[in-house]
Amino acid sequence: MSTTAGNLHLSLHDIQRFGPDPLNTFKANLVKVEERIVSACRRAGRDPRSVRLLPITKTVPAHILRLAFDAGIRNFGENRIQEAAGKRRVLGALPVEWTIVGHLQTNKVKYLTRFASAFHALDSLRLADLLNTRLERESRLLDVYVQVNTSGEESKFGLEPDALLPFIETLHQFPHLRPRGLMTIAPLSQDTERIRPCFRLLRRLRDEAVKRNPAIKELSMGMSSDFEQAIKDGADVVRVGQAIFGRRPTPDTDYWPNVVKR
Ligand SMILES: *Cc1c(COP(=O)(O)O)cnc(C)c1O
Repeated sequence: MSTTAGNLHLSLHDIQRFGPDPLNTFKANLVKVEERIVSACRRAGRDPRSVRLLPITKTVPAHILRLAFDAGIRNFGENRIQEAAGKRRVLGALPVEWTIVGHLQTNKVKYLTRFASAFHALDSLRLADLLNTRLERESRLLDVYVQVNTSGEESKFGLEPDALLPFIETLHQFPHLRPRGLMTIAPLSQDTERIRPCFRLLRRLRDEAVKRNPAIKELSMGMSSDFEQAIKDGADVVRVGQAIFGRRPTPDTDYWPNVVKR
């Protein structure tokens, strides 16, 4: 069974996941998320224009992403480089930016540097060096956010807070990387007592980091479950997937091994 929305063919599977009218669902969800961002800013006494929404499109298939584009989304945030590269091959003609927000293995650097405009998970000197070398070859620049493990939970990803300041001192060696700020993932929990310390720690680290490297200005923090809290604690970029595209079929542990404890 299938139906068409405009000239787009939706499979039964698409309809089960995204509903019969994904375009209008995405539009309505975007409006709701944007309203929540504005309210969170008001409550925090912040200018709503100071917070950027980065829609996270992982697991949303390429043909559905055309509808996300029609809904007005121009920046696709993906966790996995191969998934992103595959979608980009299909959607190459769409004028969108691609942001990679997930851990990158060093052997996959070349895929990212071909097309991504930003990377939110820089967490090692070796990765910085490899990215810079490739970017130089491609004559490209890449916006980078340094990922910090603020939860203290056992995790492979993100620098330890103590390692951050020495790390950012080295970034000037890599002229093709444009440092923009810091990124973190709080534990996926409803408990603000567990989330807040992570956001606050990232903010304190940024306040220190910016003294040494004035480009490290922004905080990329907050997801569907905690972006309002993140805005309260100073987020400049919120990375929101499920509140726009609906529940993901894949468990979060696929993306954050060891980090997720509900
Ligand atoms: C998936 C993902 C998000 C968004 O999570 P949602 O629950 O879909 O809002 C944010 N940041 C990163 C690094 C992600 O992988």
